[in-house]
Amino acid sequence: MTTKETMGLTTAEARKRQEQYGKNELTAEKKESFFFKTIHIICEPMFLLLIVAAVIYFVLGEPRDGAVMLIFVIGIISIDVIQEWKTDQTLNALKELSAPHVTVRRDGKEITIASVDLVPGDLMLIAEGVKIPADGEVIKANDLCVDESSLTGEAEGVWKVTVENAEAASDYWRRDYCYAGTLVTQGNATILVEKIGAATEYGKIGANVAAVVDSPTPLQKQTDSLVKLCAGIAAVLFLLVSTFTYFNVLNQPFNDRIIESILSGITLAMAMIPEEFPVILMVFLSMGAWRLAKNNSLVRKLPAVETLGAVSVLCVDKTGTITMNQMTVQETWAWQGDEENLCEIMGLGCETDAYDPMEKAMLRYCEEHGVKKTHLFGGDLITEYAFTNELKMMGHVWHHDGEIIVAAKGSPERLLTICDFGENERAAIEAKITEMSKQGLRVIAVGEMRPQTEAEIPTTITEAKLTFLGLIGLADPPRESVKDDIKNCLKAGVRVVMITGDNGITASSIAKQIGMPNSDHIITGDELSNMSDEVLREKVKDVSIFSRVIPEHKMRIVKAFKDNGEVVAMTGDGVNDAPALKSADIGIAMGKRGSEVSREAADLILMDDNFSTIIDTIKDGRRIYDNIRKAVGYVFTIHIPIAFSSLLAPLLGIAPASLFLLPLHVVLLELIIDPTCSIVLERQPAEHDIMERKPRDTQESILTATTLAKSVIQGLVIFASSFGLYYVFLRQGNPALARTMGLVVIMLANLVLVQVNSSNTDFAFQSFKRLIKDKVMWFINIGTIVGIIVILYTPINGFLKLYPLTVEQLLLAIGIAILSVIWYEFVKFINWQRNKSRHETTIKKPE
Ligand code: ADP
Ligand code: MG
Repeated sequence: MTTKETMGLTTAEARKRQEQYGKNELTAEKKESFFFKTIHIICEPMFLLLIVAAVIYFVLGEPRDGAVMLIFVIGIISIDVIQEWKTDQTLNALKELSAPHVTVRRDGKEITIASVDLVPGDLMLIAEGVKIPADGEVIKANDLCVDESSLTGEAEGVWKVTVENAEAASDYWRRDYCYAGTLVTQGNATILVEKIGAATEYGKIGANVAAVVDSPTPLQKQTDSLVKLCAGIAAVLFLLVSTFTYFNVLNQPFNDRIIESILSGITLAMAMIPEEFPVILMVFLSMGAWRLAKNNSLVRKLPAVETLGAVSVLCVDKTGTITMNQMTVQETWAWQGDEENLCEIMGLGCETDAYDPMEKAMLRYCEEHGVKKTHLFGGDLITEYAFTNELKMMGHVWHHDGEIIVAAKGSPERLLTICDFGENERAAIEAKITEMSKQGLRVIAVGEMRPQTEAEIPTTITEAKLTFLGLIGLADPPRESVKDDIKNCLKAGVRVVMITGDNGITASSIAKQIGMPNSDHIITGDELSNMSDEVLREKVKDVSIFSRVIPEHKMRIVKAFKDNGEVVAMTGDGVNDAPALKSADIGIAMGKRGSEVSREAADLILMDDNFSTIIDTIKDGRRIYDNIRKAVGYVFTIHIPIAFSSLLAPLLGIAPASLFLLPLHVVLLELIIDPTCSIVLERQPAEHDIMERKPRDTQESILTATTLAKSVIQGLVIFASSFGLYYVFLRQGNPALARTMGLVVIMLANLVLVQVNSSNTDFAFQSFKRLIKDKVMWFINIGTIVGIIVILYTPINGFLKLYPLTVEQLLLAIGIAILSVIWYEFVKFINWQRNKSRHETTIKKPE
């Protein structure tokens, strides 16, 4: 190998090649230009209405009104464009974080780069679990086995060889070559990249690299239809109000009558279309995902954010997620009393550069007991029997101190089947296994064989006839926080299901330690294989521990729970876990020890592999959903006074010029509503009882009857207050003053409403206090107040057809605004009292 090959490309060279060959992607990602994005937003029905209204003003010969209107419209469009730009940024940043990466050698150093930045000539290092990102020659290989079924349809793994060792090419698919889109199932290798992107074989067949498709989330679909429904109602009311207004202004010339009636219709339609909903969703979901990412859980698919809150069953791997994955050898039991030989064979059975925490622990134990690595691995490794999930054992064959030694270790059930001993001895061994397992130890059996000649070496481990040497008991303590987490899950109605490759007794012991209910009900992998789907469905209703499971079983477990109507989250780290991760409602991959393939199949990547993080994520999922619901309710509430005013004015025969809200004012209100809710409500912390509720029913609509009723009542009260005040002042003969009074009431009521509706249980001042240090919230609140002062007391008031209020009038408006919303605090108070007394009676009962 030339030095260039071992050093890899230089950074400068790599950059040059990227310019020449482009990025390693199948289709360049299309970016919607800023211009098209803006056009997109303008084409929303809401903005079309606004623009029509502005045009009408110009036609009416009131360019001043038209201009003011346009300025507002530009304001709203800017807010939307900024919000969309920000969500785009957030989502792209998230995508980048979770995009596939690959290790390459550049400038003589091993570095990790995004797979899209790979260029021809790169030396990439691949290992088990990696999805190969480009085509290239095998330069160096170590037991490399690749699953090429995505290209060839051949399920059997292909063992790769290096270019030097390759026989003359006989097949189209080369054995000394790796192809993009295929999976490394075993071993590791160095590949000299030759083709990238569309030039690869994978690219040629036009396969789609499992790109994350941004389809709308269920909630987005739900709200889309809600918006459509509202738009439909708006269209009908538009016709009604326009007709009504037309007959209301009989004294005016025909043209004016037409225009006046269209304007009132538009005002109403604007008030009726909840165009904020899609924006709210996008902002809440993407900001939610962003906050989760900061908390070590990386969302790969946006719908996961909303599904999270509905999770009712959480299936987790024991090792590494529930436990710390810090193994130590706690007990050894030598069958014939020869501790030293047991220790040495156990060491010989480990990988020379062990990465498995269990093997690391074993080698550490050897060192501590005087069996040095230099001695252990001083000989020649003749062959190895690889570990597979099905076999659950493995072995190495060494030329050691002039002897041939087969050193094997694995799960006792399996290893004992290839060991030689009598029936009486079996009973003693099994008793010891049970005893060790009951302490929560992982038990590993060790066996050896000393063939005389190389010809006697068994070809597979199952053909070996071993001498049983003894047992190793490894401890992997549960993470400290898990016990509390399990308790919280029970309260939150989330069932925790433990899945492990360990034996049932060990699993059950750990389950007991962490306080899992039903810890002695277990289904083993073998039982599962012989069970029909129907039986399994019944069983999973109370069994929460699955032992000796292979990844293929996970799929069936997920399905059984889903068939029972549960929303399932499932963790996985191996290549074989990918199908189960895909079929779970929330597939969770491990950021640290997970394979690339499992990450690609997952909805969520757990950066710290920690069980507690999953619980925090579920909690945050519930919070986000809660806040979306609050925001939707809020938007409904605040639109009611606007819609009703526009509806009622023509009925009361109010002259168009003296109307409460002209299109101008509706736009002005929109300008406040949008940011207020998407910022203040988005930031709301979780309610106290959020993890004491049952998981949400996924069938339930975002706008429940209760939310709707609450919104309507709140909205009607604000309407009555603002419109009432307007109407009283209108009688005094100054429409601008009357309008200003009403408008100030709505604007201030809006501020208070956000605080009141921030929480269903906490009082407004508590919610306020929680965010008291939040600069953004102050910015919004003070901004609105300054805004009111500016539109009232500067010459702008003329443009807006408003009138400066006297101090008394202003105080009156403030008082009414507060009263119109604050009453809801009493409802909360009464609920709180009721809950408290209910709580007390339940506590008193046992006496
Ligand atoms: P888990 O899902 O709990 O991580 P694994 O699938 O890794 O379990 O392992 C399952 C069983 O296979 C273990 O309980 C052990 O008996 C056996 N085993 C795992 N790794 C090795 C190894 N490196 N050598 C021998 N036996 C192993
Ligand atoms: Mg494992």
